[in-house]
Amino acid sequence: MNLIEEDRQYVWHPYTQMQTASDSIGIVRGEGAWLYDEQGKKYLDAVASWWVNLHGHSHPYIAEKVSGQLRTLEHVMFAGFTHRPAVELARRLLDVLPSRQAKVFYSDDGSTAVEVAVKMALQYWYNQGAPRNRIIAFKNAYHGDTFGAMSVSGRSTFTAPFDPLLFQVDFIDVPTPGQEAEASAQLEQLLEQRGEEIAAFIFEPLVQGTAGMVMYEPGPLDDLLRRCRSHGIITIADEVMTGFGRTGKLLACDHLQEEPDIFCFSKGITGGTMSFGATTCTQALYDAFLSNDKLKTFFHGHSFTANPLACAASLASLDLLQEPQTWEGIERIARQHKAFSEKITGHPGVRSVRSRGTIFALEWETGDDTSYFSGLRDRLYNFFLEKGIILRPLGNISYILPPYCISEEELNYIYETIELALDTFPGQSVG
Ligand SMILES: *Cc1c(COP(=O)(O)O)cnc(C)c1O
Repeated sequence: MNLIEEDRQYVWHPYTQMQTASDSIGIVRGEGAWLYDEQGKKYLDAVASWWVNLHGHSHPYIAEKVSGQLRTLEHVMFAGFTHRPAVELARRLLDVLPSRQAKVFYSDDGSTAVEVAVKMALQYWYNQGAPRNRIIAFKNAYHGDTFGAMSVSGRSTFTAPFDPLLFQVDFIDVPTPGQEAEASAQLEQLLEQRGEEIAAFIFEPLVQGTAGMVMYEPGPLDDLLRRCRSHGIITIADEVMTGFGRTGKLLACDHLQEEPDIFCFSKGITGGTMSFGATTCTQALYDAFLSNDKLKTFFHGHSFTANPLACAASLASLDLLQEPQTWEGIERIARQHKAFSEKITGHPGVRSVRSRGTIFALEWETGDDTSYFSGLRDRLYNFFLEKGIILRPLGNISYILPPYCISEEELNYIYETIELALDTFPGQSVG
């Protein structure tokens, strides 16, 4: 059997209807922004392999650091033991995070980083003897696929089978342009009704990825954070997608005036090398768990907490993030996205177009006929694949979220292909 047949025989893929899915593409090698399949066909990874890759695939510097670590210490349990890569990474993360961040708690991925954040926030109140059991989140938020992370995410077709078991969350509008006052009023009403019951507010800062790269400005978020703070509510920034340069600054929260209390990281933290999560918090949060009373302990941990290989990959990625060349790439991508956005604004196939830093999103004009579009989505996906570009749309949104090493020419090739698609698949309003 070849790779694809064996895959069909034995493997169950994520977010995939296995009955109707077309064959997976067998990738054998990656280099820079490119992935190579079994036949040697190459694909430009325009979505950074689900938003994880920062510096390109199989980066030699990260590979060297991880393989060195692998030959020294591959893993050790993290309760009662520690190691240099974990301590070094915590110190270096705290160096670059907003100044109130004081401690780092490691986990396995974005979902667990969020679980940790939510549990920390809830137990913070519990430990004070004044439990607060409600959480505020944005509509259409996505914070992960485990139960706590699903609970604080918007209810959708993804969560439908589990909805009866998810805990209750108060959802407010995202303060996108034009919606700022509405979002603010909804928060205000919750604070008036039950401000004393609300433990935390969790949000994806400035860009809601899974919702369709929905973007909003720092000002209105600052306003929401200020109101939460005045009620003592813990604010949790889920930077799992936006962290490490995506929005043009190291963190999306670096665009803000306010400093959230908790941050969640994953995806790009290792440069996209492997699964890893980190949740950071302020000293005040940490202090609420210090006690002679064992019951106030944070009873949470994963077998692979602070895995040394993941720490080594993260340290290597942080090194690369300190290279001027990395930031030149980020800034150039941002400039190119802006110019391309302006160029295609007004095209009849384009309903809207937006960008923030290295993230670009185009909403296709679909008219009212969504069934027409659902077919178009697959045709678009296949159209780009044929042209050697991995551009996996979210509903009627095509987005580019590339590794920072992508060249000007490679990015231009993606733009040209999008323009070709706009002319090949005209929007419903004109077709
Ligand atoms: C992807 C994502 C998660 C979940 O991360 P996983 O590693 O897939 O569990 C959480 N929050 C945000 C904002 C994400 O984009």
